[in-house]
Amino acid sequence: MASVANIQLPRGTLESPAPCWIPRTSRDGKTFRPLVKCVCGTVYGTAAHHIHKDGTVTASWMSNLCCQWHVHLKLLDWPGEDFPPSYEGGT
Ligand SMILES: [Zn+2]
Repeated sequence: MASVANIQLPRGTLESPAPCWIPRTSRDGKTFRPLVKCVCGTVYGTAAHHIHKDGTVTASWMSNLCCQWHVHLKLLDWPGEDFPPSYEGGT
């Protein structure tokens, strides 16, 4: 079984070098689900994943629409929200 790399993903913006995660907040400061920018630059939503309070993302990340990047992600500087997977929402 191939091992899957653990990646500490830095916080960034849509203009940052890939890979990174991209925070989204409402006007009143509420934290929304983050976006993830793949190593190849493709930006994904995270609705199918669980974002834990410590920034750990489960299950493992698979960029199945672009370069098949398969890693375990941890979001650095994650503000501590917990987002269970949300298959019905697009956010
Ligand atoms: Zn990719």
